[in-house]
Amino acid sequence: MATHSNGSSEFNIPKIRFTKLFINGEFVDAVSGKTFETKDPRTGEVTARVAQGDKEDVDLAVKAARQAFDYGPWPRFSGFERGRIMMKFADLIDENIEELAAVDCIDAGKLFSWGKAVDIPLGANTLRYYAGAADKIHGETLKMSGSFQAYTLLEPIGVVGHIVPWNFPTSMFFMKASPALAAGCTMVIKPAEQTPLSALFYAHLAKLAGIPDGVINVVNGFGATAGAAISSHMDIDKVSFTGSTEVGRKVMQAAAASNLKTVSLELGGKSPLLIFDDADVDKAADLALFGVVYNKGEICVSSSRVYVQEGIYDELVKKLVEKAKAWVVGDPFDPKVRQGPQVDKKQFDRILSYIEHGKREGATLLTGGKPCGEKGYYIEPTIFTDVKEDMLIAKDEIFGPVMSLMKFKTVDEAIKCANNTKYGLAAGIVTKNIDVANTVSRSIRAGIIWINCYFAFDKDCPYGGYKMSGFGRDLGLEALHKYLQTKSVVIPIYNSPW
Ligand code: NAD
Repeated sequence: MATHSNGSSEFNIPKIRFTKLFINGEFVDAVSGKTFETKDPRTGEVTARVAQGDKEDVDLAVKAARQAFDYGPWPRFSGFERGRIMMKFADLIDENIEELAAVDCIDAGKLFSWGKAVDIPLGANTLRYYAGAADKIHGETLKMSGSFQAYTLLEPIGVVGHIVPWNFPTSMFFMKASPALAAGCTMVIKPAEQTPLSALFYAHLAKLAGIPDGVINVVNGFGATAGAAISSHMDIDKVSFTGSTEVGRKVMQAAAASNLKTVSLELGGKSPLLIFDDADVDKAADLALFGVVYNKGEICVSSSRVYVQEGIYDELVKKLVEKAKAWVVGDPFDPKVRQGPQVDKKQFDRILSYIEHGKREGATLLTGGKPCGEKGYYIEPTIFTDVKEDMLIAKDEIFGPVMSLMKFKTVDEAIKCANNTKYGLAAGIVTKNIDVANTVSRSIRAGIIWINCYFAFDKDCPYGGYKMSGFGRDLGLEALHKYLQTKSVVIPIYNSPW
């Protein structure tokens, strides 16, 4: 089994400062006065009670965002001015990095050290990236046939609803808010009910930075109520959703049934990692393990299907098991720990039930498979072998530290296996052979392919889904265009014939 650490961090866990809804620049109670609990996944104990938004609160937030879009300064500022304020917002994030990383740690079970080194800096830098783009948004001039010329204006799409999941509360917030802010949009953000806290902190920093009231509104609440009120709202122009494929379908249906708002969907995945015979076995084993345990497997691009070419299969399996057993699971504040707790009891139970299912289906459990620690929602890194393509553990997104290991013989077989899924979010290839890397990367139907690396995400590189992993891209300049629309303005070149 994996090593478990109970934690020995000296870090002083901060008092939670923000628990209300953030509407029109103010922290307010929900109209109903209701609140809900958010729990610490290290213990299962309640961290805070948070205002529980519903349709009435979404209506108020949309009204504020509409007012800010139709009459407020944000869309009318120059791109340079928007960028300047966004840069200030990013600096305030840097100044509060310890507290922000701690908030995500006790809300989502994320590693404190990774929060400080990766998630929070990436959030701030995503803001800076789009801040730099805000004054470079421009259309084209066009020579039309006949005696007309035209130019295009790229205008902000309007009021945006962002609905996000719990696995990366900070990254999700900035992946969605930053390009929309740069474009000049106003927005209502609904964090996941499991992780309501850091978004409120970011709303507070946005106000300190000078983002005008009504531009960013945060409504916490549940999916079927607050979330559904966003996707079916008649006065929201676009909804940008990240979450499960099942809920993505509902969001799209609600958008179609209401005002035909535009939709982008970043959904689930079951991503393959293909390891070829010429790989360095030790490094490939490190990558394969990291691909499935990073963020405790709660990541949409987790490489939960690992296919290994037959020549190195036995050696790689041996190394993987050794490495998984040495992996340290435990308190996410402890700097020695590599894997924290699953986000909540529901997710913990769901993962364990998939593990039981895998055993019943006849897969061989090589290592892991059990909870660890005396309290909280910790699960050992788990590796199954003898997995068949049609088993549930090879098909369903488990969203936990559970790997299905399979063997292949040829490049063609590897491509076929990789594509044998309804999803198409990501894939990894480990090989020194450039021809194999080129052929395979072009043959896999997925939005991002990592060659001899995995999880190499950054603000500049777009990612998103093929097939049932959704459509539209987050990050990169491509994401900016989700929040813009094109207006053509046509003028006669010579005196108008009319
Ligand atoms: P989820 O779909 O249950 O919830 C996501 C968000 O949608 C939450 O804020 C939730 O409250 C809201 N929601 C739920 N029901 C709703 C409804 N009827 N109408 C409107 N909103 C509703 O997903 P989750 O469990 O929070 O997150 C895990 C899923 O997210 C996984 O499938 C994972 O792959 C996916 N995900 C995808 C990406 C990506 O970029 N593709 C990134 C992270 C997570």
